[in-house]
Amino acid sequence: MARYTDAVCKKCRREGVKLFLKGSRCNSNKCAIDRRSYAPGQHGKNRSKLSEYGLQLRAKQRAKTYYRVSESQFRKYYEEAMRQTGVTSDVIFEQLELRLDNIAYRMGIGASRAEARQLVSYEMLEVNGRKVNIPSYICKVGDVIKVRDSKKENKAIVMNLENNKLKAAPEWMELSKDRMEAKVLRKPVRDDVDLEVQESLIVELYSKN
Ligand code: SF4
Repeated sequence: MARYTDAVCKKCRREGVKLFLKGSRCNSNKCAIDRRSYAPGQHGKNRSKLSEYGLQLRAKQRAKTYYRVSESQFRKYYEEAMRQTGVTSDVIFEQLELRLDNIAYRMGIGASRAEARQLVSYEMLEVNGRKVNIPSYICKVGDVIKVRDSKKENKAIVMNLENNKLKAAPEWMELSKDRMEAKVLRKPVRDDVDLEVQESLIVELYSKN
């Protein structure tokens, strides 16, 4: 059997969970983590017990990789969450979920968050009738996000929506796949996020630095 060397899938294997980085492949029997759930590398099968710091670091890496955001962006979400009232980890996830690239992914427009980000950058979407091409743009409750009329025939979008027609939208969003449009109904909460991570560890990590 050919050796499987996909760098993106190694990130999931490192974290030990599916991070859904490869679109439709993630839900197929080709998913690397279903086939080899141990960490990559020579010593991958012998995961050593992590220190407290190691656990915190892995939690942060897991969330960062899931949303495909950089370290500096992730830290900004933490700092913003510290300025706001509410549970810090909840506000971090709220901001991440409300990013325009994440909403495009949740709508099924992009097969993965990476592709959704690219489509946002290519000016495929508008928010409340205005073109927005900033993947990190944070949407608000009441915002209407839609594929621009001139982009509705885009092959990648049409194909992704077809492939994702059975994918349910999160409860905080009202989605019309026919109109290629979504509305933010409420702020997302941590329970809306399908990521296995102990979020308190992320806050503990940043609060030390
Ligand atoms: Fe690869 Fe997707 Fe499976 Fe992760 S979930 S290992 S990215 S196929």
